[in-house]
Amino acid sequence: MGTVATTKEPSLASSDLTGAATSDGGTLLVRAPRTGEVLGEVPDLDATQVAELVARARAAQPAWAGLAVDARAEVLDRYRRLLWRRRGEVLRYLQAESGKPYEDALRELGLLLDWAHHWSRVAGPLLADEPLRTRGLMAVGRRSVRTFEPHGVVGVIGPWSFPVMLSIGDALPALMAGNTVVCKPSEVTPLATAMAAELFVAAGGPADVLLVATGGGRTGEALIDHVDAVHFTGSVATGRAVAARAGQRLIPCALELGGKDPMIVLADADLERAARGAVNYGLANGGQICMAVERVYVEREVYERFVDLVVQQVRSLRVGPSGGPGTVDVTGMIHPPQVDIVDAHVRDAVERGARALTGGRRGPVAAGYEPTVLVDVDHSMRCMREETFGPVIPIMAVRDADEAVGRANDSEYGLTASVWTDDPARGKAVARQLEAGTVTVNDAMMHSALPELPMGGWKTSGLGGRGGAEAMRWACRQRIVQVLRTTGHPDLGWLPYRPRSSRTLERLFGLLYGR
Ligand code: NAP
Repeated sequence: MGTVATTKEPSLASSDLTGAATSDGGTLLVRAPRTGEVLGEVPDLDATQVAELVARARAAQPAWAGLAVDARAEVLDRYRRLLWRRRGEVLRYLQAESGKPYEDALRELGLLLDWAHHWSRVAGPLLADEPLRTRGLMAVGRRSVRTFEPHGVVGVIGPWSFPVMLSIGDALPALMAGNTVVCKPSEVTPLATAMAAELFVAAGGPADVLLVATGGGRTGEALIDHVDAVHFTGSVATGRAVAARAGQRLIPCALELGGKDPMIVLADADLERAARGAVNYGLANGGQICMAVERVYVEREVYERFVDLVVQQVRSLRVGPSGGPGTVDVTGMIHPPQVDIVDAHVRDAVERGARALTGGRRGPVAAGYEPTVLVDVDHSMRCMREETFGPVIPIMAVRDADEAVGRANDSEYGLTASVWTDDPARGKAVARQLEAGTVTVNDAMMHSALPELPMGGWKTSGLGGRGGAEAMRWACRQRIVQVLRTTGHPDLGWLPYRPRSSRTLERLFGLLYGR
């Protein structure tokens, strides 16, 4: 891939330093979040270098798009198999630069493999010309078809929470559509993305079809200035800036942004399972998931029992540094400054009368936060209204489902939500009242592991662009081709206008639409 130089293989050795990526002139040092150990360095690309990278991707694009879809799928299949064979290296990079538990890294890689498998198989049918049915007077003799064409070069800008899935993963439908792609990973976690892109070439992918532009926010801005479409995953604040910049160029812009995802527990739910669900979906990946359970509303009659169950389970979790399979449940935060936000939310809640039944403070690992269960919370508190993006589960008692729905919808976000009940019909009825792009009954988040399903937020959570046929369609320009069979066609209404043809036209309109 040629844009990334790592100083050495990442290791998990510890020291007392904490830190993330730091810029050193034209180079970014990538550090282990917990220890501050330098894991590698990558170029901090400026606007000129980004323009050059996009020019390379642009030069490679016609040949890539010129391959049959099956040939592109064959490249993707080889890539998937190589990612699996070299999983040890990818996982090592992922764990080292994010400090995730082994299982969270493995699941991320598994998702990437599944998406590669999916997009290589569905691209053919999704990209095939689509005949469009038309009706009415003007449709007579006309046949219309929709064709799908790549944009050219697509930019994919991703966050630090899922370094390979939300950069390379989102590149896959765009690649299958015949685009070339330049990914801009977070400056905090560029190594796993760069390594995964190198494997694309090692698997036989043509040069310059999948490139990585390393650097910070400026690099992302420059990418938007040169690509033909941009797929962005990150915070609402950056999403607004990305949309504004893309708007200046009028290029398509997909936005997958933050969430404050509510979980509603109704009194008839399997409480034991719902409590495990809250802990799993609240604390997996250290709560650093846009679709993590960020707040829980429980019907009052089962509230005490539910809280007890959650607290018991959270207390049994193992918190520590990232290690081998099955050794730890929650590690430190991926981006150390995020710990300050988590701590500010917890302190604000406690100052306003909330109680932390577990955790409530930094540690026990450096750059980490103890898994925290908050009760006596209300909507005056930041932890109920702003995205915390950390290992915090605030639980609030509500009178009934109606109050839960009102509270859940009292948010600027609308990414996902979940309803837990023994009655699927009631669950569905409540789901339909929630202002969110996806609502799950008796589960959460797992819809995002199914690439067949479209995914997108309501309100400030974004404008969609991931999953389902929509993702492939987003990666394409659409062209309508209409063909008229001329033999015997009256060309009604053409110039010059004549009384007789106008009267015929009028009669036909009357026959068709006047009754
Ligand atoms: P972020 O600060 O918004 O950054 C996201 C990406 O944008 C990074 O690569 C960042 O680069 C880059 N960037 C920063 N400023 C930019 C600019 N002006 N123009 C173009 N690119 C720019 O988000 P984050 O802190 O990495 O990630 C956490 C957020 O992502 C949370 O809000 C979370 O909910 C959201 N998220 C959403 C989804 C979803 O699917 N909806 C999934 C995961 C995460 P640097 O990091 O190098 O500054």
